[in-house]
Amino acid sequence: STNNLNSDEDNINVVVRVRPVNDKELSLRERNMLEFPGKGQIICHGTASGQKPKLFSYNVVFEPAATQEDVLEYSGIKRLLEMAVEGFSCTAFCYGQTGSGKTHTLTGPPGLVESGASPHSPEHGLVVRSFVYLFQLIRDRPDCHFILKASFLEIYNEKVIDLLNPGSSRKPLQVRWSKESRSFYVENLFTVDCEQLDDLFAVLEEGMRNRSVGAHAMNAHSSRSHSLLSVRVRRDVRARDVACSTLGKINFVDLAGSELTKRTHSTGKTLEEANNINRSLMVLGYCIAQLSDGKKKGHIPYRDSKLTKLLADSLSGNGVTLMIACIAPTKSNLSETINTLRYAARAKKI
Ligand code: ADP
Ligand code: MG
Repeated sequence: STNNLNSDEDNINVVVRVRPVNDKELSLRERNMLEFPGKGQIICHGTASGQKPKLFSYNVVFEPAATQEDVLEYSGIKRLLEMAVEGFSCTAFCYGQTGSGKTHTLTGPPGLVESGASPHSPEHGLVVRSFVYLFQLIRDRPDCHFILKASFLEIYNEKVIDLLNPGSSRKPLQVRWSKESRSFYVENLFTVDCEQLDDLFAVLEEGMRNRSVGAHAMNAHSSRSHSLLSVRVRRDVRARDVACSTLGKINFVDLAGSELTKRTHSTGKTLEEANNINRSLMVLGYCIAQLSDGKKKGHIPYRDSKLTKLLADSLSGNGVTLMIACIAPTKSNLSETINTLRYAARAKKI
């Protein structure tokens, strides 16, 4: 059965995470361009010479000192997970330029997950922390029976590649429409039944290993692809007379670098790539803007990219979307930072 939220006012939650200044920027003595005057606010200096600093407002801003645990606690992800357990489709995605902290926010420092670190390592990002919380929610409902199924894919150049079955990468998978479930799905995608935390963790680890193999085979591959990890949650209520079940979902999306939207001067294969990446990000931005208008009026172009097809159920008001806009604080990143802050502000018309 389909769920509908009573109010679409909270369909999208936008938070911003600012990464710390890194060693390279420190050694170059790069200027810090950001200031945090109040809750959810960012002032951006030096936007144009002689212009006033710009003020942006969001639901939440994570300053550079924020921890991975803070992101779990204050991003609103817990609400998405609770809703997924209740039968809604929810999506959390990270948007931002390459190097802004998207992957760090979702899965921690480079190599952490692939190295097989314990699921309880304090460095883990939002995905592993969410897995832990999900199993807490499940333990809190001994009256229900749960079945979790996970999948992990990558969209590169508008081609879908199964990160749990890398042998399939020669033949991209097809995205199809299911009349029965009234949603898009990926044909022949590998899905793993996950009975415990370690099973979910193993899915993440395997997919990230395969993703980094791709990254070695092609320079900067991961900054040009979107990765999508989905956990479907089926809940059967064990009541004596009534049989009731719900089917929810949580998606975690690590988007391609937002700087690619402007690579229009590239040639050949790179141009094709840029156009496709451009399309996914632009379509996503447009869908999100429509969603934040709340009224679901007008045409929402989910069908215009693979990514938005696969996220359509959560973007269409049957769930909640969390956008984590990732930015760097320093001067050399300023124009991308402003683009990201604008994209995020459009997503949340406060
Ligand atoms: P992206 O995925 O957006 O390209 P990364 O997540 O790979 O960016 O981040 C680039 C580098 O900065 C990585 O080495 C990462 O560990 C580091 N980094 C990003 N965000 C943080 C943070 N909040 N705290 C510490 N290091 C960070
Ligand atoms: Mg990354």
